[in-house]
Amino acid sequence: MNFEQLYADFVMHHYKNSMYRGLLPASTCSVEGSNTSCGDSIIIHLEEGESKIQAVRFEGEGCAISQASASVMAEILEGKTYDEAREIVESFEKMLRGESFNESLIGDALFFQGLKDHPMRVKCVNLPWKTVAKALALNEQKKTGA
Ligand code: ZN
Repeated sequence: MNFEQLYADFVMHHYKNSMYRGLLPASTCSVEGSNTSCGDSIIIHLEEGESKIQAVRFEGEGCAISQASASVMAEILEGKTYDEAREIVESFEKMLRGESFNESLIGDALFFQGLKDHPMRVKCVNLPWKTVAKALALNEQKKTGA
């Protein structure tokens, strides 16, 4: 299989069979985001533990890339500490900007690297990450009592 086939399988797998799609009854933070240029929308639910993210789920509608990206992101961030999660999101965004980034942090999300040269697709793939960044900022605010 070449990269294009692997990439297509990867996206379709996460788009159609995500284990991370759905409601999260124990959710302590839910944040919404949308990408009007493609019609993608996403809601990220986090169950915030004391020191780490206990669970991540998403709901949403839109293109396969935006939804698959949410699934991959949830898989990567679940169980991570907040500092780790912020570093991972930063690395992913650096990758999309074509800057040097820490490949070992982002796992399977590396599959999306080729999208950095497609500005419209960048908006799709980055939507869940931009949305979770808001949730992480809210978490930080809660902790510092700001
Ligand atoms: Zn899209």
